Amino acid sequence: MEHVALNNGVRMPILGFGVYQIPPEQTERAVTDALAVGYRLLDTAAAYGNEEAVGRAIRASGIPREELFVTTKLWVQDAPAQENAERAFEASLSRLGLDRLDLYLMHQPYGDVYGQWRAMEKLNREGRVRAIGVANFYPDRLLDLLLNNEVTPAVNQIETHPFFQRAADQALMREHGVQIQSWGGFAEGRNDLFTHPLLSRIGAEHGRSVAQVVLRWLIQRGVVAIPKSVRAERMAENFAVFDFTLTDDQMAAVAALDDGRSLFFDHRDPAAVARLGTVRVD
Ligand code: NAP
Repeated sequence: MEHVALNNGVRMPILGFGVYQIPPEQTERAVTDALAVGYRLLDTAAAYGNEEAVGRAIRASGIPREELFVTTKLWVQDAPAQENAERAFEASLSRLGLDRLDLYLMHQPYGDVYGQWRAMEKLNREGRVRAIGVANFYPDRLLDLLLNNEVTPAVNQIETHPFFQRAADQALMREHGVQIQSWGGFAEGRNDLFTHPLLSRIGAEHGRSVAQVVLRWLIQRGVVAIPKSVRAERMAENFAVFDFTLTDDQMAAVAALDDGRSLFFDHRDPAAVARLGTVRVD
């Protein structure tokens, strides 16, 4: 497995396993299969409702804790955000059955992000979480957060796939030492990604699937990827991407697929703020 070094020196696998939209009753099986395939980075969230099942799979695996890289996410907190964020963190850890996290992400750029971030900084200083970061922050919000706080987010987990590539956002993050992590790397199959003609042609040139081409393309851009699947054979397929390389021409051809806009929703859209920013999880 290749790793990236985060801005505080913590090493993070460049490929992991995401569990969004896996129902809790299927999650233990899926994570058990993923760990058996070789995944060591697991990405969950309080909002996914499956932290307990992730924790059960971790314990059952017998894999030493230090070999795993576990990420979960803080949902939007009501005031007092700092106090509530600390409580939410303890609840997530308890559901996971862990005594520390590898990465804690602020899930949405909504609410009292400064209060939430201060709580996360404290947890980081206390050694309860090895690295802290954010998700779904567009460059303006990210820059404002990092310019006005002590700890620079180690990671920004954002929608990144062939149709929404985030090259300029990635350049800004790189300038400030923030690692880009892709969510929805397959665009959840939208735009017929898995049968896309160009991606299929590149796959055929290597004897690989479209999924493998997309993951390879992300990894060669230095983007951490966390594909989700409930099928063990796809987990294995998605993990087998370290023995071939896309050429410069192939990378350039994929770069031309960028539409520059979300296939899901824009976090800056007032309707999204109203919808997500008012949901409470804990
Ligand atoms: P994704 O990884 O882009 O796509 C998952 C879909 O692709 C599933 O329908 C899966 O079906 C299918 N798939 C997986 N491997 C395949 C293969 N080799 N061939 C064909 N189909 C395949 O979507 P995602 O789950 O939204 O994103 C990945 C992770 O990012 C999430 O699990 C979560 O951890 C994280 N995420 C974070 C945020 C955030 O706000 N921070 C938002 C969304 C997601 P099967 O399961 O049936 O195989």
